[in-house]
Amino acid sequence: MESFIIAGNWKMNKTPKETLEFIKTFKTLFKQQEGREFLFFPSFLSLAIFQQEFQGTTIKYGGQNCHFEASGAFTGEISATMLQAHGANYCLVGHSERRTLFGETNSATAKKVKALQSINMTPVLCVGETEAQRENGDTLSVIRAQLEEGLAFYTKGQKLILAYEPVWAIGTGKVATPQDVQTVHQFIREWTLQKFSEDFPILYGGSVSAKISKELEVIPCVNGFLIGGASLQVDSLMAIYG
Ligand code: PEP
Repeated sequence: MESFIIAGNWKMNKTPKETLEFIKTFKTLFKQQEGREFLFFPSFLSLAIFQQEFQGTTIKYGGQNCHFEASGAFTGEISATMLQAHGANYCLVGHSERRTLFGETNSATAKKVKALQSINMTPVLCVGETEAQRENGDTLSVIRAQLEEGLAFYTKGQKLILAYEPVWAIGTGKVATPQDVQTVHQFIREWTLQKFSEDFPILYGGSVSAKISKELEVIPCVNGFLIGGASLQVDSLMAIYG
């Protein structure tokens, strides 16, 4: 398995100026640790800054979204090729905010995964259940459908990261119990092994903070974190990096 991944999803936060300020502080504190890596998802407008500051280093970065077509009449959208032109090798796909607020379907996530993989980028496919689905006992069936449909065009040997993010835990301060995380991560691992005979890094996301990260980190099949709120400040992010 690869390094433990500490991924920061900045969502619609930080102007380019604020990004530069963050990076300036980050660079004064960052010391590369063996077996751990950073992956940032800043706004599109900050990608050029990440390219300028981090291309060729161990710090990775990517887009928060992309369109599945390479170019065309899709006002307001951005393509995987455009992300790649900024040195971005990763892209989030199917984040719950994209699914809930912008109507992203499993079929759209499948096309995005395909578009990214076709140019050798790594999709980070996010899956997770809502509170109601959890209460109904549908967690694993929802995740299975998101994987089945979202990876409909996956072909063996392509780059891929998966992220389990229970929707009810994102930005709420509620964290899944270690037992819940283990159950779902184990389920995802077994599903990919059975389906593709391959395993992929599986990140956990949902109100991860330094306080609970050590407990979650040791759970089998947790290969990293996808962090929203706590990734916006250098101190809180570094406290998770360790
Ligand atoms: C996220 O945006 O993917 C996320 C997990 O956010 P937070 O850490 O703030 O819950």
